[in-house]
Amino acid sequence: MTDSASRYIQGRTGPWELVIGLEIHAQVASTSKLFSGAAVGFGAGPNEQVSLVDAGFPGMLPVLNRFCVEQAVKTGLGLKAQINPHSRFDRKNYFYPDLPQGYQISQLFYPIVGEGEVLIDLSDGTQKTVRIERLHLEQDAGKSIHDLDPNNTYVDLNRAGTALMEIVSKPDIRSAEEAVAYFKKIRTILVYLGTSDGDMEKGNMRADVNVSVCKPGAEFGTRCEIKNVNSFRFMQQAIEYEARRQIEIIEDGGTITQETRLFDSVKVETRSLRSKEEAHDYRYFPDPDLLPLELELAWIEDIKKSLPELPDDKRQRLMTQYGLSQYDATVLVTEQARADYYEAAAKDRDAKLVANWVTNELLARLTKDGLEIEQSPLPPAQIAGLVELIETNVISSKIAKTVFEHMWEGKGTITPAEIVEKHGLKQVTDTGAIEKAIDEIIAANLEKAEAAKEKPQAIGWFVGQVMKATGGKANPAAVNDLLKTKLGL
Ligand code: ADP
Ligand code: MG
Repeated sequence: MTDSASRYIQGRTGPWELVIGLEIHAQVASTSKLFSGAAVGFGAGPNEQVSLVDAGFPGMLPVLNRFCVEQAVKTGLGLKAQINPHSRFDRKNYFYPDLPQGYQISQLFYPIVGEGEVLIDLSDGTQKTVRIERLHLEQDAGKSIHDLDPNNTYVDLNRAGTALMEIVSKPDIRSAEEAVAYFKKIRTILVYLGTSDGDMEKGNMRADVNVSVCKPGAEFGTRCEIKNVNSFRFMQQAIEYEARRQIEIIEDGGTITQETRLFDSVKVETRSLRSKEEAHDYRYFPDPDLLPLELELAWIEDIKKSLPELPDDKRQRLMTQYGLSQYDATVLVTEQARADYYEAAAKDRDAKLVANWVTNELLARLTKDGLEIEQSPLPPAQIAGLVELIETNVISSKIAKTVFEHMWEGKGTITPAEIVEKHGLKQVTDTGAIEKAIDEIIAANLEKAEAAKEKPQAIGWFVGQVMKATGGKANPAAVNDLLKTKLGL
């Protein structure tokens, strides 16, 4: 637990505690909508993916998409949550130009998934559990487009009726960092499960961020809800801004009114959108067009059996099976493809060394070139090949960096061993050659050699000189041994 005082925000009147709860909307990775057969896909022309159900035509009846239900159950299981065998769909009534039905079908009273929990990873290496309140299925709305024409608003209903999973957390989050870590972890779990693409740029995931402040240990304050935050950085900025804003109001003698706000990413501030409607404004009632949802326990069990290894379990396994540090294992399991890449490269090799090369050199290079590990020009065999050369003392770790540069340029067309051959980068283990270099250096620096007898740590300077003379190719252990003998240490 990060229960230290450092997480508090300092105000004029003393420390403040931040309380945050997230409502994450994740688009279900389904090729058709929640209640219609219309296609779901990115990049279609306006209104090309709209059925009469989505367009809210009178007399059209919704038909529940079994695949979407299965994804919600799978997600619930991945969040270690209770699956409710009995759930129901309700109508949330409100008028919006891009909501032709005049209501959204959601699950208020009986959600398909109940309480669960998620383990989040913080930058100081600690972990914390954030409890999940519920997960429910609901329809997304269409999109109003205001900037295509100066006088008219256009409506694109492609998104109308798309299946969303809304994942609601308990107010367990205590800092912007924790909120971002939680959002990231939910995304990672969904992507592992395959239940959502988690592509934030395509709008697959967005979060409503509820923020309040209170004096440490006091009752929670009144919250404001920041709508539709769709990037990790915006989440961090929105929370930091909102916390400051609330603290200043209270310290100036004011009170916080519960409201919905939006985050302006250009001005980096939150602005009031509307004061919070009371829930009864929506006149929720059970959708008469849909039967209650009854899940068979055997079906839930089958889904449970089909779950892939999830990030926390994978991390634990990487730590025990390969002896990795918690940090390296955490970095590797962030993306399933990273872990897969690692395991392919680590097979039969020094596993820790492979982890170093993947998490340091390779990931840094990929990030620099804006590439995901799936797009790596270097297949796992290249990293394995490089590590094998280090393990067998063909090259030193230092020269390995040079080899890696050539590997990156070669885009996988030339093996590390071929690179070493071609550029003459083999480590000199031939003691004769090393001895010759040492003799020359000692002869040219007799005073220093004499002084080294009194001050043995001066050997470092000689090692450096020998490495320089051999173009970094001398085996460092051999150099050390020989120097000790020659200097009489
Ligand atoms: P609503 O459905 O009206 O948005 P909920 O009770 O479902 O309200 O809560 C929505 C979110 O607000 C949840 O994620 C919850 O954890 C969070 N929340 C509740 N109380 C607070 C609070 N005092 N400060 C911050 N977040 C809160
Ligand atoms: Mg809400």
